[in-house]
Amino acid sequence: MTQERTQVSQDEDQHESRIVNIPERRDEIPPAPAEAVFRLDDVHVYYGKFLALRGVNLEIGRNEITAFIGPSGCGKSTLIRCLNRMNDLIPGARVEGKIDYHGQDLYGAGVDPVEVRRRIGMVFQKPNPFPKSIYDNIAFGPKVIGMQPQSMDELVERSLRSAALWDEVKDKLKQNALSLSGGQQQRLCIARAIAVSPDVILMDEPCSALDPVSTGRIEDLMEELKRDYTIVIVTHNMQQAARISDRTAFFTAEAAEGSGDRTGLLVEYDRTDSIFTSPADKRTEDYVTGRFG
Ligand code: ADP
Repeated sequence: MTQERTQVSQDEDQHESRIVNIPERRDEIPPAPAEAVFRLDDVHVYYGKFLALRGVNLEIGRNEITAFIGPSGCGKSTLIRCLNRMNDLIPGARVEGKIDYHGQDLYGAGVDPVEVRRRIGMVFQKPNPFPKSIYDNIAFGPKVIGMQPQSMDELVERSLRSAALWDEVKDKLKQNALSLSGGQQQRLCIARAIAVSPDVILMDEPCSALDPVSTGRIEDLMEELKRDYTIVIVTHNMQQAARISDRTAFFTAEAAEGSGDRTGLLVEYDRTDSIFTSPADKRTEDYVTGRFG
């Protein structure tokens, strides 16, 4: 069982008190990632002329879970989409600054965005299985990219096992994936991401459409998956960030100098327990204690 330490944050005005449970880490998380998978240097993201996110510097550690938190519109989804070049697909979206992935410029000439998205998979807010059988959902990606596994059956089984779904679906692999529950569909999408042997799994609010039991299963699964993968998750649920992540990046949106537009910025990035128990920035403290806005 995971021991939990409880941090109680009391609003000075006594309007509200928040309790955030910070899991006691068995392995101490080092102050900085031992090995960075991503290194972001002064990243700015525009949609047309609109600056959505400015000046982000961040290192994402290998085999860690990194959470992006912050109020709606502060650029969390924008940033996570930069990490596998999904923003390339949005007309007008432009990334400035540098994003290194294992020491290589992710946006450099000669980098194939399709290969990037194979190595850096993504799971979305709403489960989006293909309207195909459970089996074909998993086998589709490997086929499209020309993987030639010794046995597709084994690859499908392994992927479903890794996503903690095998026992529930092994007798109905030919059934349409849309017949599964929402939580099962989301684990299927995780299995689908795993099937193409990624290095990183990005998750953009993966539990926000799920009930608490399904959410718990996905959170347990993430803990398992981080042994093999690096995980980045956007979540608006602070309890979830506190429960599952090793590091947390807190973003907010503020008016940029000389402009009325509110643009996103990274306020603070640290070990999750520090963010929730001893944040360095008042804006982080206000947010994690529920005094924001
Ligand atoms: P968050 O994930 O923190 O809620 P987003 O990354 O979705 O924030 O949005 C950040 C800012 O960028 C917001 O002002 C939003 O309106 C804007 N934005 C997001 N996606 C687009 C888009 N496709 N086109 C134009 N503006 C966008």
